[in-house]
Amino acid sequence: LEYAAAGVSDLRPYQPGKPLAELERELGIRDAIKLASNENPLGPSPLALAAIREVLPALAQYPEGSAPELRALLARQLDLDPGQFIFGNGSDQVMELAVRAFAGPGTEVIVSQYAFAAYAIAAQASGATVRVAPARDYGHDLDAMASLINANTRLVFIANPNNPTGTYLTAEALETFIDSVPSHALVVLDEAYLELMDAADYPDGRRWLRRFSNLMLTRTFSKAYGLAGLRCGYGIGHPDLMAALERVRQPFNVNTLAQVAAHAALTDHAHLQATLANNRQGIVALRDGLCNLGLTILPPAGNFTAFAVPGGGQRVYEALLLRGVIVRPLTPYGMPDHLRVSVGLPVENQRFLTMLGEVL
Ligand code: PMP
Repeated sequence: LEYAAAGVSDLRPYQPGKPLAELERELGIRDAIKLASNENPLGPSPLALAAIREVLPALAQYPEGSAPELRALLARQLDLDPGQFIFGNGSDQVMELAVRAFAGPGTEVIVSQYAFAAYAIAAQASGATVRVAPARDYGHDLDAMASLINANTRLVFIANPNNPTGTYLTAEALETFIDSVPSHALVVLDEAYLELMDAADYPDGRRWLRRFSNLMLTRTFSKAYGLAGLRCGYGIGHPDLMAALERVRQPFNVNTLAQVAAHAALTDHAHLQATLANNRQGIVALRDGLCNLGLTILPPAGNFTAFAVPGGGQRVYEALLLRGVIVRPLTPYGMPDHLRVSVGLPVENQRFLTMLGEVL
């Protein structure tokens, strides 16, 4: 078989965090902890679980592809128009829709060094040429990214904050950059961790939606809302842009359970507040604990932080696995000296720090 796009043969599949059940099978234990995929340690909202149970009898029917109820609620909560949304099987799929609609052989897609890996994988699979702008202090260097833009550029991906480096861009820098991007290129501003961002100077991309029609924000129910296993994310942009993406969306891409659970999760303010409170104190615990171990950390953001390990991350990653703790090695990101850890419950954060201390 011949690949449709030359880039497919060079692709390395996305390497997700090691599944918890897999490690428990390997070690023959039942109390391993996974702090590797930036998931919500509190789990899904009880309201989401109740909504799932209630909708089970309807599973013989196809879902409504446009997710009308979820769309209406989000539009109300975010003070936007229902036509400004598109839904996906995770926000990963929304990014893929943008690639499918706009990129392909003969086009170029710009990403930053150390950026979230899914962008480059989707772009390369489409046959587009991926142009990687060197990072500055592990973050997106917008000048370097701007200098790569040309007549063939179709997409520019920006992670704000970036996973795994935790870096984020402020409103002023982003606005100047988006303003400089020509209208034949779409800026995808990935805000997967927005709800978990505390920094006063972290910008909500909605402020630019009126001004720039070549801007799409992406968000997800996988992080703050604790529904990673259900796969539901969305894009926000100009209605004409959303209509363009609808052309390439599979008719039933967001399943019934995901739609009702996401809708219910949006109404559970108490669960979101509990998540944010756990996250805030967890970030402090991890940051202080890692610093007390004498480690250098990258800025914590969202619900994770990356840190450097003397002698390389892989050895420490494997030693932690043997102690029932899963974190994320960053070798696939070209950061072999770093590991990334997600905020867990207080007891999980403590266990990770204790085990890490032992290993070091
Ligand atoms: N963007 C970033 C920056 C992420 O870290 C992740 C999840 N690892 C995603 C997008 C994808 O999230 P989803 O589950 O919505 O596909």
